[in-house]
This record gives sequence, C-alpha cells and structure tokens, in this order.
Amino acid sequence: MLIFKEVNALKKYLDEAKKSGKSIGFVPTMGALHAGHMALVKASNRDNDITMSSIFVNPRQFNEQSDFDGYPIQIEADVAKLESENCNILFLPPVEEIYPTTSYEKPTFDFDGLDRLMEGEFRPGHFVGVGEVIKRFLDILTFDRMYLGEKDYQQVQIIKSVIRQFDYAVEVVTVPTEREDNGLAMSSRNLLLTPEAREEAGVIYKSLRWLKEEFKYDSLDDMLNTAKEKINASEHLEVEYLTAADANTLQDLNDGEKTSIVICTAVWANKVRLIDNIVIEG
Ligand code: AMP
Repeated sequence: MLIFKEVNALKKYLDEAKKSGKSIGFVPTMGALHAGHMALVKASNRDNDITMSSIFVNPRQFNEQSDFDGYPIQIEADVAKLESENCNILFLPPVEEIYPTTSYEKPTFDFDGLDRLMEGEFRPGHFVGVGEVIKRFLDILTFDRMYLGEKDYQQVQIIKSVIRQFDYAVEVVTVPTEREDNGLAMSSRNLLLTPEAREEAGVIYKSLRWLKEEFKYDSLDDMLNTAKEKINASEHLEVEYLTAADANTLQDLNDGEKTSIVICTAVWANKVRLIDNIVIEG
C-alpha cells in the first residue's frame, strides 16, 4: 500500500491512474479501523481498479474539544488492516494539508435545514464540518466513487447534498452497518466503552429491531417511547433522541403517508455517544 501525506504527490498519482483508464474508489475515515471500515474497503475493491482510503481526524466536525482529544488513534494497526484488505493507497494528511492557512476559503453550504435535525440538533456545527472536509477531498483528490456507511445515515444525506450543491461527478455507494455479536453497531468510539456498557449497548439495536418488527404507524409515538424506556432501563445508557423520519428526506412524517421510514437514535453510554438507525420500508 502506498502512503501519501502530501496532497500534490497523491493528486499527481491519481491523475495519472485516471489517464491510464483506472477507476478509483475512495473510503474516507477517521481511523481506529474496524470491520465496518473494512466492509467499505471491500465494496470499493469490488467496484474499482484502485481503492484509496484516508485517515484524517477532522477537527472541524467535533463540537466537543474533549471528544476530539479522546478520539482513538492507532495508525500502525490501521495500516496493517488496510494492507490485509488490499487497499492500494492511504492518504494520511496533517491538518495543514487539508486546511492550509493561505489559498483556502471556507465554503458555505445550503443544507436546507438537514444539518440542524437529529444529529445536527445535538451536535451544532458538526455537519458543516463534515461538509467542509468532504468538499475539500472532492476538490483536492481524484476519484469516481465514494464509499459511506449506512450507520451514519444523516451524514450520507449531507454528503449527497454537498455533491449536488457543487455538482461533483462522483457516485456515492452506501454499505450496510457491521455489528458486534450483540448487535451493537461497530464504531471507533466503542473502544472507549467499559465492558459493562458495551454489553448493555446491545439493547440499542434490539430495540430498533423490535420497532421494525412490530411497526404500526398508528401507535408510532407509543412505540418510540417504549423503545426509549427499554434502552434507558440499562444502568449505563441514556437516550438523547430516538426519532422517526422520512427515510429519503429526514423530514417529519406526514400523517398516514406510506413512505419509507428511518428511525435514528443517539444514546449516551456513560460519556461515549453511540448512534444507530434502522430503515422500515414503506
Ligand atoms: P468514521 O471513521 O467513523 O468517520 O467512519 C468512516 C466511514 O465508515 C463512514 O462512512 C462510516 O459511516 C463508516 N462506518 C463506520 N462504522 C461503520 C459500521 N459499523 N458499518 C459500516 N460502516 C461504518
């Protein structure tokens, strides 16, 4: 695997690969890689001649300094995992390569309110930071497809919106959520959980599955409350939000409309914030 820390050298390499007719898949990450990230690398390898991953803990998408400071970093283990999955390129930039102090202007976005719902409500500024780093990658790198996890459901919508707003010729491919044996969605932040909280956190996906299996539109509010209670009954867990929305727009559900529904949740497990979701087809 080739490792690039500088944009210019990487860009040159990618442009030459494109000229020789190779397709390029891109898997952006913040590192501390697990099987969820590897599923994205596998999907990219399946579809493209070249797979490029990045590890960049983007300071602009953290709304809490303590979350940024405590974010797990394990580059050597990450490199080994990417190599074993036959990733071809790793982009490992220092912050100045992504946000140079000169020759870079912060973009403005119009997410039409999408950045203020759900995750956006509880993490002010988070999605503008996500949009900023993704737009930067789109501007400085060359790739055909970007691989994103369904675990971060709202983030996928935000990134698609960035691509639409600025008309980039890049395809987004989404990949289902990889889970621990107890159903907990894999996440780099799981490394920060105590064994007890990690075990208990299996109830999050169990509750989402219950909502999907027993789903009745007419009793949705009651069901959401019951699911919240199920999760909050665990000693170390506390629901921040558990919300149903239109799966395509993330807007409130219109009464009686037979749309696909997504139920998204954020749960605090002690000081670690976990997110998950489930889609219920309409
Ligand atoms: P992160 O390193 O958390 O920024 O995630 C990088 C990419 O991996 C994002 O597209 C995530 O949605 C995706 N991802 C994270 N966790 C999982 C998972 N458990 N299953 C599938 N994809 C995931």
